Amino acid sequence: MKIEVLGCYGGVDPKHNPVTLLVNEKYLLDAGTIVKELSLKRQENIESICITHCHLDHIKDLCFLADNMILSGNTKGSIKVFGIDPVLNMLKKYVMNNKIWPDFFEIRGTKGNHILKLVPVEIGEKTKFGGELNIEAVATCHSCDSSGFVINDGKKSIVYTGDTGPCPALWRRLSKIKDLKAVFIEISFPNKMRELAKLTGHLTPELFAEELKALKNSERIDFYIFHIKPQFQKIIKREINKLNMKNVHILNDGDVIEIDG
Ligand SMILES: [Zn+2]
Ligand SMILES: [Zn+2]
Repeated sequence: MKIEVLGCYGGVDPKHNPVTLLVNEKYLLDAGTIVKELSLKRQENIESICITHCHLDHIKDLCFLADNMILSGNTKGSIKVFGIDPVLNMLKKYVMNNKIWPDFFEIRGTKGNHILKLVPVEIGEKTKFGGELNIEAVATCHSCDSSGFVINDGKKSIVYTGDTGPCPALWRRLSKIKDLKAVFIEISFPNKMRELAKLTGHLTPELFAEELKALKNSERIDFYIFHIKPQFQKIIKREINKLNMKNVHILNDGDVIEIDG
């Protein structure tokens, strides 16, 4: 699996993009950063998107991607938008409602297909994500309705959490995935902001380390950290390095990661 980091931060400034991972050129995990990092040609390759929750930093570029697809007049078919019911309902009701943004779930492209297509999923249900991948929504604990996703290519699984605070249900599920190779997980705040992190459904380096105790065989899994608040970057990186775990890696915008196995 090839993962390209279009954005990996928990905030936006000229040097930091909000979160989106591009998988195998065709699949997106969240939609915070797409159109500024992918050429129009590469945008046209997108087949499916997983949305973890409706906070703007995870959905905003879905609006602009949809807009580009209708103008390019070259969509290969509807882009499928996967998410749990409450997340997709919010997207339709509060964002693509013909007030904030046109309803691209109804608008059709030049080939007659809707630009976007809603694909509701349930926690624990396995669904085809595209040609070579399956996904399963997993519980996460954030400040609004949310889920993470397991992505499996038939040989191995990776997990993308989206935003989450401490979450026993997440680790219960992850402990059962035998072919789990990598977990892309958030850390947003430094240790001194532990209470705020818990209140808002986020992690600190310490909380992350405490959560890992609930995961079997965690030393055999690679952890890729995203959603760091740019203003706390230095201190958070220091605190992560202090955990002294060789299998914990901090992502940067533009990173490309090959997950083998
Ligand atoms: Zn969030
Ligand atoms: Zn976020």
